[in-house]
Amino acid sequence: MAPFTKAGTALAALREDLSGEVFAPGDAGYDEARTVFNAMIDRRPAVIARCESPADVVTAVRFARELDLKIAVRGGGHSVAGMSLNDGGLVVDLRRMNGVTVRPAAKAALVGGGATMSHLDRACQPYGLATTGGRASTTGVGGFVLGGGSGWLDRKFGLAVDNLLGAELVTAEGELLQVTARDHPELFWGLHGGGGNFGIATSLTLRLHELPSMAIALVLCLPEHGPEVVRTFRDVIEAGPREAGGAAFYLTAPPEQFVPPHLVGRMLSGALLTYAGPEEEMRALAAPLLAVPHVAEVVTAIPYADLQCMTDDPPGMRNHWSAEYLTQAPDAFVDVFCARAGSMPVPTRTQHLLWPQGGAIAEGPDDYPVPYRGASWAVHPFGVWEDPADDERCRQWVKDVRADAAPWSTGAVYLNLTGDEGADRVVAGLGAENMRRLGALKRRYDPDNVFRYNHNIRPA
Ligand SMILES: Cc1cc2nc3c(=O)[nH]c(=O)nc-3n(C[C@H](O)[C@H](O)[C@H](O)COP(=O)(O)OP(=O)(O)OC[C@H]3O[C@@H](n4cnc5c(N)ncnc54)[C@H](O)[C@@H]3O)c2cc1C
Repeated sequence: MAPFTKAGTALAALREDLSGEVFAPGDAGYDEARTVFNAMIDRRPAVIARCESPADVVTAVRFARELDLKIAVRGGGHSVAGMSLNDGGLVVDLRRMNGVTVRPAAKAALVGGGATMSHLDRACQPYGLATTGGRASTTGVGGFVLGGGSGWLDRKFGLAVDNLLGAELVTAEGELLQVTARDHPELFWGLHGGGGNFGIATSLTLRLHELPSMAIALVLCLPEHGPEVVRTFRDVIEAGPREAGGAAFYLTAPPEQFVPPHLVGRMLSGALLTYAGPEEEMRALAAPLLAVPHVAEVVTAIPYADLQCMTDDPPGMRNHWSAEYLTQAPDAFVDVFCARAGSMPVPTRTQHLLWPQGGAIAEGPDDYPVPYRGASWAVHPFGVWEDPADDERCRQWVKDVRADAAPWSTGAVYLNLTGDEGADRVVAGLGAENMRRLGALKRRYDPDNVFRYNHNIRPA
């Protein structure tokens, strides 16, 4: 933006007014500021406003409105479709707003809109408190919670949205609202799954729960034992308490200490049983899994915040994923799931995952726009690779997993783990009935669809 034009003058004023930093093309730091988790995303915003306070966010939104710039919001930058970036618009970068204040007596945390799961988990751990978080410590709390939020603790404590008690929100008009069940109740409802469609959450208040202990049993098996380990995991979960969670999977064996060196780089099957309770109880539950022939195991108590880092993926990889909810996972589904592992791109960091629903998820408030409470299982093809030459086969494999799941699909998808798969899939992720209500809410709070870099709800 040239100086002396309206845009140039406004940009100079933004640089002056913001307590955080401003990056425009050509500025030192601009390329780092526009880098997101998915290395396939390469977009060039006109301005990136790295905000430090709610007042900065208001200033940035008003700047964008004055210049008629579309606004993307960056929390943890982990959206697979790169929804925290745009071309030629403004990015409100919340990364510096990552403070977490734990109120142990109230069992609540006030979480900055740009905090990551690691900021949240590490702040809660000393108090023996936790809430449902994503399965990677680097994911942004904002995008994760507003989009539903599924993790190791959801069968015990509900979806992340079930623990969202309030938000401070900057609207498309640049107004700062305190949104709770009492103040702005309809907007409060919409934030429980509607993502960043209605504004920028500068902070979120989350309910915390006591979590004195956590334990896991991880087993890795040769692929020929895949059907047995997946079925056993399913049976353990379906007969087990809500403290039990985790996932069954196929993956390329990582170079970890517990993996026999000759198997590193080969495809393995396996299961991770997580348990929100003492190790002894988990060991009893895990006995059938540990009886499946396996090549590696890790059975241990583990602090929740450490478990959260255990499956972190490095940035700089290419990503394409999807997620379908299932009515059930009978043997016929398990056979299809395991057969599809045969074409999984290996060796890459791709994972083929099946995770359980049920417990507190099924019992949460039934009117939030998360139409997958009743599902029993979810299948998640998580395509992660390095070489652009693998783009086509990895994308195709994700599509194939979706197609395989169709006979058992509830019809709902999980938008947080879905790329840009079109408007119908957004309806499938939010529910057709909810979509009408969300559209009316969008018309009220963002009639110009300024916040469109998300799983977009069009103003009704
Ligand atoms: C390695 C990895 C592991 C994951 N594991 C899980 C998992 O276990 N469970 C799960 O449910 N999801 C998981 N996810 C998906 C994750 O929840 C979504 O990608 C989520 O959108 C990421 O949020 P973010 O803030 O990091 O992303 P961003 O890309 O910054 O934002 C994603 C979307 O949310 C909006 N947004 C972000 N912050 C705010 C805010 N403060 N106010 C308003 N809008 C905001 C953005 O505008 C954008 O539309 C994982 C993703 C990755 C990369």
